[in-house]
Amino acid sequence: MIYNSTRNSKLEVSASRAINDGISQDGGLFVPSELPKLDSAFFERLSGLDYTGRAAEVLRLFLDDFTDSEISDCVRGAYVGSFDNDDPAPLHKLSDNASVLELWHGPTCAFKDMALQLLPHLLTRSAKKTGDGKRTVILVATSGDTGKAALEGFKDVPDTDIIVFYPDRGVSNAQKLQMATQTGGNVFVSAINGNFDDAQSGVKRIFVSDEIKAKLSENGMAFSSANSINWGRLLPQIVYYVSAYCDLLKEGKSGAFNVVVPTGNFGNILAAFYAKCMGVPVDKLICASNRNNVLTDFIADGTYDRNRGFYTTISPSMDILISSNLERLLYHISGSDSKVRDWMKQLSNTGCYTVDGETREQISSHFVGGCADDAATKATIKDTFDRYGYLCDTHTAVAVKVYNDYVKATGDDKQTVIVSTASPYKFAADVLDAIHPDHGCDAISAMAELSRVTGVKVPKPLEGLDKREVRFKGVCEPADMAKVVYDYLKIN
Ligand SMILES: *Cc1c(COP(=O)(O)O)cnc(C)c1O
Repeated sequence: MIYNSTRNSKLEVSASRAINDGISQDGGLFVPSELPKLDSAFFERLSGLDYTGRAAEVLRLFLDDFTDSEISDCVRGAYVGSFDNDDPAPLHKLSDNASVLELWHGPTCAFKDMALQLLPHLLTRSAKKTGDGKRTVILVATSGDTGKAALEGFKDVPDTDIIVFYPDRGVSNAQKLQMATQTGGNVFVSAINGNFDDAQSGVKRIFVSDEIKAKLSENGMAFSSANSINWGRLLPQIVYYVSAYCDLLKEGKSGAFNVVVPTGNFGNILAAFYAKCMGVPVDKLICASNRNNVLTDFIADGTYDRNRGFYTTISPSMDILISSNLERLLYHISGSDSKVRDWMKQLSNTGCYTVDGETREQISSHFVGGCADDAATKATIKDTFDRYGYLCDTHTAVAVKVYNDYVKATGDDKQTVIVSTASPYKFAADVLDAIHPDHGCDAISAMAELSRVTGVKVPKPLEGLDKREVRFKGVCEPADMAKVVYDYLKIN
C-alpha cells in the first residue's frame, strides 16, 4: 500500500514513512493511493471476532510493511486491559432506529483514546522501520481531548518526548486538570494565549520550519505528530465503523445505515467516509457542528469561509474553524492535487475558498451538515435523558440534535449510528446544568452531583482529579511556541 500527499500525488511513501513523518514535506497530508474493497464474506468473518481481532484485520490491509505479528502486538497493546469495557466500542441501542456508538471507554474518557492508545505502538515500530534512529518528539495542538489522550498514550514510551499545547480558555476544567496533572518523565504541557486554531497553526509552523527541523536533527531528534493529520490516527478510527457494522450484522441488520458524527477537525467523520468507500454500507454521513458551523455552511454551498466569529461553546473539542482533515476529503473527491494546493493556498491567504460544482455535488451526495447551539445542545441532553434514560455528553448531544432535526426534515428512518465521543463526566458541569439547572456546583463537585442525580457512575479515570499534583502551569504566546519546545528539549 502506497501513500501519496494531498498536495503531490506523485509523491509515494510507505505506511511506516507516512506514520513516522505525520505530515508531508509539501504541507500536504498522507492518503492511501487506493482503498481496499471489502466484501460480505469479510464482514461475516469479522463479525465472529472481538474488537482486537477486527482491528488487526482492518489494519493489515493498510500496513503492508508491518508483519501480522507486529500488527497483533500493536492492537493488543492498545486495546487489551486499557478500556473499562470488554468491547472498546460498544453499540448502545437508543431506539428501534438509532444506536449510539460509545467511543469513550478508554483511559481518558474521550474517543481520542481509540486512536491514541494504538498510535504509539504504530509510531515506535514505524520509526524503527524507516531507520532514522532519532528520538521522536511528538508535538500536539489540542482542543482538549487529544492532548490528554496523547499524553496517556505516549507517557514513558522509550526514545520519545511529547509536548502538548492547548488554548488556555478553550478547554473544560476537567480537561485542563487532566493535562496539568499528567504523569510521566517524557511529557510537557503548556497553555497558549489563543484559541485552538492558533495552537494548531503554531504547531504546523514548527513542523514545516527547515530551521527548527535542522536544529532538532543536529540534536538527534525529529518531530512527529499525534494530531489527526497523522495517518496513524485515522486508520484506527476506520476500524470502529467496520466493527459497528459487524455488530449491526449480528443483530440481523445488514442494510444501509446513516452515521452521525459530532465534528471538529473532520477526522472522525472522514474515517466513516473511508469505511463507506471500502464497502461498509453507510448511506448519509451526517456532519454535526456546534455554533462554529463552518462545515455546515461548506456542505450546504461549497464555500469554506473561516472569516467569522470564533465561539467558545460547551462542546469545546469542536470549537474549530480550520478542519484540517477536510483536505483529505477534497483530494479524494476532486481527484486533483493541484486543486487541493490551490484551495489550501487560498485558505491560508484569504481564509476562504469555493470548490467547483462537481466537487460540491459529490460532497453533497455523501454528506449532510447540521449544527446546534448551546441552548439546543442542553435541551437535547435533557430530552434524551428523559426519553431514553440515556445520559450523553455535550458533543454527543450536538449529534443527537442534528440527527433529530434531520429525521424531522427528511423523514429518513434508516438505521442510524450516532457517534458518542466523550463520557458525560468529562463535561459534567454543563451536562448537570442541562439535567438539573441551578445546582451551584463547580466543575469537580458537578461529577459527584451528576452521578447522584442520574445514577450513572463516574468513570474511574476521572475520579479524584482535583487531588492530583498539578505539574504544568505555564501559559505562552503563540509566537513563542518554538522557544517553549527548545527549552523543554534543552536545545538552543
Ligand atoms: C476531538 C473531538 C471531537 C471532534 O472530532 P474530529 O475528529 O476532530 O472531528 C468531537 N467530540 C469530542 C469529545 C472530541 O474529543
